[in-house]
Amino acid sequence: MNKRALINIDYTEDFVATNGSLTCGEPGQKLESKITKLTEEFIVNGDFTVFAVDVHELEDKYHPEKKLFPPHNIRNTEGRNLYGSLKNIYEANNNANNVYYMDKTRYSAFAGTDLEIKLRERGIIEIHLVGVCTDICVLHTAIDAYNKGFHIVIHKDAVASFNQGGHEWALAHFENSLGARVI
Ligand code: ZN
Repeated sequence: MNKRALINIDYTEDFVATNGSLTCGEPGQKLESKITKLTEEFIVNGDFTVFAVDVHELEDKYHPEKKLFPPHNIRNTEGRNLYGSLKNIYEANNNANNVYYMDKTRYSAFAGTDLEIKLRERGIIEIHLVGVCTDICVLHTAIDAYNKGFHIVIHKDAVASFNQGGHEWALAHFENSLGARVI
């Protein structure tokens, strides 16, 4: 029985493409082959593979990010599509019973979602995180995972940020404060 899962975080057009509305740009684009390869490996191996994707409503005046960031990942827009070859891998496997696409509305993939239930019912204790941004959504997901007692693995060549300093700080924090394996 498989006990690990891959959580793909926010690898979308808006967060990665050159013309994305909240893009990491080149650091994010450089991950494409690594993130796609890892995703394929997990899917083929039968491991639970999650696509956790930010969603916002255009006129949501209560959302805290409204004050912080320009509109991004708006429901039913192309900006919310998975980026590059990751989109192809998802579309080729979206009927597989170990592939799970879920919306999230906060930085953490655990906030207001059924992710924890999905992991617990499968007996998964180790979660592997990839995607963007290292120091925002990946970080907040990792903190929640730590508090819930999951073992965390961060693939350092499969996470990126628009903020290089924040990226490096978060990589150290994963290891030194969250007990993650950074590989
Ligand atoms: Zn957002």
